[in-house]
Amino acid sequence: MVSSVLQHESHLHLYGCLDAKSLWAITEERSRAYATRFHWFLSEYERVTGRKPDPKRWWTGEEQGFAEFKSIYICDRPVSFDLFQAKFNLLIALFPPNPHELWLPNAVFSHHAIQGGYKEYRTFLPLYLPANERAKYLQNIIELAQRYETSSYHPRIAISLMRNNAEAWEGYRFLRQFLDKHQNLAPMVTGIDFCASEQGHPPRTKKDLFHHVRADNAQRSHELEILYHVGEMWQDISIASAARWCAEASALGAHRLGHALALGMDVSSIGGGKIRETKLEADEHLAWIRNHLGDLQESGFGPNDYQWLSERKESLTKGDFVDWSYDDDLIDHTSRFQDAAIAMVAKNNPIVECCPTSNIRIGNLKNSRHHPLRRFLANNLRVVVSTDDPGVFAISLRDEERLLKKDFQLSDQALVTMNQTCLKIFET
Ligand SMILES: [Zn+2]
Repeated sequence: MVSSVLQHESHLHLYGCLDAKSLWAITEERSRAYATRFHWFLSEYERVTGRKPDPKRWWTGEEQGFAEFKSIYICDRPVSFDLFQAKFNLLIALFPPNPHELWLPNAVFSHHAIQGGYKEYRTFLPLYLPANERAKYLQNIIELAQRYETSSYHPRIAISLMRNNAEAWEGYRFLRQFLDKHQNLAPMVTGIDFCASEQGHPPRTKKDLFHHVRADNAQRSHELEILYHVGEMWQDISIASAARWCAEASALGAHRLGHALALGMDVSSIGGGKIRETKLEADEHLAWIRNHLGDLQESGFGPNDYQWLSERKESLTKGDFVDWSYDDDLIDHTSRFQDAAIAMVAKNNPIVECCPTSNIRIGNLKNSRHHPLRRFLANNLRVVVSTDDPGVFAISLRDEERLLKKDFQLSDQALVTMNQTCLKIFET
């Protein structure tokens, strides 16, 4: 057997790591224990797909039942983000955070211990739990990860915060206090993550929080990195705005950008398509270009481009919205803006976390040719590769490596470099 190059991954969502077989074995029992939540999952699934899953069929007969279950849980082809979320809801329904019951992290850690390497798991801080229960939950989950630590397997935890500022600040303050109090656990916690829907949450709203986190880091022996999912969704902003969000997030101090698809995706993949953006965000975009013309011009994006976009925006504005229509001119303009934005991101030198399978299945990219990974590498961005939700996608890092070699035609050396970049996250 050929051994794999990629050993470490920094972008995993703890719940999405649960493999289908382990989950299937426990669904009947859990669906009774959490009946109301389970019904919520069933009705949400029906709302998105138009058909209600029939769980009784999951539990009749070993082979047939498991196949039925997998057709509901596994996301093995390109689907809408809503359908992915509907599948993920099963995990949310059956595993409410509970400090005294860590079945799910146990199952994930024991499964991944066989694979080894550094693996960083993001999980939400349940603000709705009373503070003492919340602290216990954090403590127990981190201590559990600690117990799985061996010379070959190194689980790490990152804490996901809500995107809205009030909850983000509350979660962050709680986490800092917790880590100050439990300094022995601090090395197991790598960072804070923002991962829920990006819609309505531009990175600029996180300026104060990011500044605060970095100031706190400077005073402590243990740093919390800022992990920021950005540019993964562009349903309601232009590709250029979503690329700008990536540049903004890195300028504001995010250590790692999750996905950043819009920063480098092949814009021609949506050729002929339309995106409706608020006039407000389009105006933000133009203002940002004006404020950064010096930097942008270094990459050849100049005042004429600004003028062109400004006029195009005026002609496409209807009331409070701009209906961008991706003809050849807009594709070319956006692509050149991406080049300039990539150059600006490169100066800040964040790590970009690419999850190719996830991006192709739920990131609205039609295929690997449209994925930004090669463009990022060509522009000397620091890139690492992860599986994101390997349980829901039914993949492992080894599958990702195969994909990178076959469809992305990456060399062994490129893979070695990405693996080392990932290792450095954890060893510094
Ligand atoms: Zn993710």
